[in-house]
Amino acid sequence: MQRYSIFSLIKNAFSNHENWDVAWKDPEPKKEYDVVIVGGGGHGLATAYYLAKEHSITNVAILEKGWIGGGNVGRNTTILRSNYMWDANGLFYEYGMKLWENLSQELNYNVMYSPRGVINLAHSDAQLNTFARRGNSMRLNGIDAVMLNREELKKMIPFADFSSARFPIFGGLMQPRGGTARHDAVAWGYARGADSMGVDIIQHCEVTGFNVQNGKIQGVQTTRGNIKTKKIGLCVAGNTSLLAAKLDMKLPIESHVLQACVSEPVKPFLDHVVTFGAGHFYCSQSDKGEMVMGGDLDGYNSYAQRGNLPTLQHVLSEGLAMFPNISRLKMLRTWGGIMDMSMDGSPIIDKTHIEGVYLNCGWCYGGFKATPVSGWTFAYTIAQDRLHELNSKFKLNRFNTGHLIDEKGTATKVWLG
Ligand SMILES: Cc1cc2nc3c(=O)[nH]c(=O)nc-3n(C[C@H](O)[C@H](O)[C@H](O)COP(=O)(O)OP(=O)(O)OC[C@H]3O[C@@H](n4cnc5c(N)ncnc54)[C@H](O)[C@@H]3O)c2cc1C
Repeated sequence: MQRYSIFSLIKNAFSNHENWDVAWKDPEPKKEYDVVIVGGGGHGLATAYYLAKEHSITNVAILEKGWIGGGNVGRNTTILRSNYMWDANGLFYEYGMKLWENLSQELNYNVMYSPRGVINLAHSDAQLNTFARRGNSMRLNGIDAVMLNREELKKMIPFADFSSARFPIFGGLMQPRGGTARHDAVAWGYARGADSMGVDIIQHCEVTGFNVQNGKIQGVQTTRGNIKTKKIGLCVAGNTSLLAAKLDMKLPIESHVLQACVSEPVKPFLDHVVTFGAGHFYCSQSDKGEMVMGGDLDGYNSYAQRGNLPTLQHVLSEGLAMFPNISRLKMLRTWGGIMDMSMDGSPIIDKTHIEGVYLNCGWCYGGFKATPVSGWTFAYTIAQDRLHELNSKFKLNRFNTGHLIDEKGTATKVWLG
């Protein structure tokens, strides 16, 4: 792989940047692969990368129906955090935070990781109590957590309405190492890394069916022909239930639209990610200066990657109630993505009843931050045919056995972003 550095930048400047290697190739699908990953989003790309890097399995194809990065990995609001209460989630996402910290060096690609601090605002004594409880759980798991009082918050976000807001600010919980990363760069960095180790990234190739014989996977049917394989990893986020139905599986997930929007760029005024859970609103400021804003789900099931204006109006009116100074910003873009909402707010990374079919889904609104650790653990599960300690609690059958990891309060967008 051609290394990116200041020296390669200077060298290529002499030839008008016309001789860079392509970042990833555009191969024709082969007849057979050791592993097929369905879905070229963040999780699929990271899984293929770690299959090659950590398990030396390089005869791998990623099949993507559109283009890589066209799904949720390129549509999210880029928030990273590990501020969960239950051990299963806390330890999993914290391992992810450690991977984020070195990801740019690991991939030789600047993912613009920015640990600027994620602040959850509290608006009552009761809410402060639950935040303190969660902060204590985080600290017991070695995760950074700081309780903030009203006066400290006034210094950090002075433009919030501290005088007359419908939901007065009582304090907050902050994870200082939480923050953001550039979402497209994450997809592109993993794609380039995986490609350089021999993985085939096949775009515009939709999986339309599966060949299963005697309970074992034999291959996939695609819009570009049949491909044989003994192992398949499903990483299709909001489309999971559609593909699972083709395997006669009914999953405990629902697909919902989540929208976000950005304003015109303005000078820097917000240094942190701030979530206003009581108002279903959260925001951060991008490096370009745009306000990146989002909130609650559109309240109906959908597979459409677009939303509706009433939900945006609701989200933004709540945002204005807390941050009146954004009222004169012009909106640049809005968009939507399809969320794979699990019933307890926690993901599923598991084997299935079909030998060779592995499941990665249920990311709700929070799967971007999981991209590295999801890929890391899913690659392990596919390569070793067993669960890694970090995903051992994310079993599919927990919805039968009752071992839920009920993190809906902390996993959801309205609380944390
Ligand atoms: C508006 C919004 C804001 C969000 N904010 C955050 C946030 O701040 N922090 C956070 O952690 N998470 C956030 N998320 C959630 C996060 O983006 C997702 O949980 C995560 O990206 C899902 O994993 P993925 O990247 O692999 O999904 P995707 O990028 O959606 O990848 C799935 C891929 O599968 C492909 N596919 C589907 N069906 C088929 C098929 N039949 N054949 C071939 N390919 C197929 C799709 O085209 C898609 O490219 C947000 C999401 C949205 C929409």
